[in-house]
Amino acid sequence: MAIVDAALEGVIAIDKQGFIQHVNAAACEMFGYEASELIGRNLAMLMPEPDSAQHDGYIANYLRTGEKKIIGRRRTVNGRRKNGEIFAKELTVTETSLGDEGQLFVGMMRDLSAFQREKAQADELRNELSHANRLNEMGEVVETLAHDFAQPLTAIANFLAAARRLPGAAEFHAIDDLIAKAEQHTQRASDILVRLRGFIEKHSPERAPENLHCVIECALDLACLGDGHRDERIELREIDDKIVVDIDLVLIEQVLVNLLRNAAEATKDASTPKIVIETSLEKPRYVRVSVSDNGSGVDPEAAPKLFKPFASTKKRGMGLGLSLAKSIVERHGGEIGYHPADPHGAVFFFTLPIFAREDDDDRRTGETSRVD
Ligand code: ADP
Repeated sequence: MAIVDAALEGVIAIDKQGFIQHVNAAACEMFGYEASELIGRNLAMLMPEPDSAQHDGYIANYLRTGEKKIIGRRRTVNGRRKNGEIFAKELTVTETSLGDEGQLFVGMMRDLSAFQREKAQADELRNELSHANRLNEMGEVVETLAHDFAQPLTAIANFLAAARRLPGAAEFHAIDDLIAKAEQHTQRASDILVRLRGFIEKHSPERAPENLHCVIECALDLACLGDGHRDERIELREIDDKIVVDIDLVLIEQVLVNLLRNAAEATKDASTPKIVIETSLEKPRYVRVSVSDNGSGVDPEAAPKLFKPFASTKKRGMGLGLSLAKSIVERHGGEIGYHPADPHGAVFFFTLPIFAREDDDDRRTGETSRVD
């Protein structure tokens, strides 16, 4: 017993009914209890749900059937400390019999929480580094683009404003309308460059609660490539048009526009091109937006590098769209991904945390109810 007490691993022995018979110092420290608080109590107190409710059943099942589901295997399971903290531990259970004490189950365990914390920190650091790397490369490109585009964009805006002021121009409503649209897109191009610069310099995104339905509608308008007509190939299937997300509108719209343009390009040779934007609920409080197409599909060789910068299969592609989209979505706390469509084509999707849901009454007042 002295050896067990001095062991660095936690050791707990229970009887056939699941009551604790022995516990060593390392196990007491791991769970934050004194030995006297544990001896004679049911082991279930050291487990979170659902294991705690089912543990007696596991033992009974083993005693009845002799089927070893747990015994002898090294597994990672969760434990519950006295302060309520749930932590991961590595557990091996053996079976033994000790004279009058009869059959005992002995669990040897190692607290994995410090290891997992360090691993999470290392992963985060690695992510940060790869993000920084990606942004460095993209930063240079965007800097150049922003610089080179600023001047022609200003010129376009000035010409458009001058066209509107021409004598008699206001009488041609249709032209006036088109000029207004062109001005709107010019302004948007400048906004995108400013936001991208800010994003790459790691300014915090300019976030605000936005109705996801409206965001998608705007992106559909923006993706229509200037002819003013909604693309008939595109179908919108929404689970709910009242979901509110806390986003930098210009950047998330840009993610959608990129996915839509890629889909449009991939379907350009399809006999009946079809693009579907779909929203669905994802794990608690996340919404998933997917853009699927029945186009050529992603080249299997390109698939592993899809979200890396400068990975393009197009003659004139920069290969920045998806990589930027990934950075933008991740900065909003979401994830982005791809899978092949059935029977052919591609599905690109991203998730965003749901901020709130707009109630009908609130819509009129423009308020939202926060989801917590
Ligand atoms: P670019 O469009 O400039 O190539 P992206 O990062 O947007 O850059 O896309 C990278 C590559 O991913 C594309 O070159 C293409 O090979 C592939 N891709 C993206 N979307 C689709 C899609 N919907 N269908 C097929 N391939 C796609």
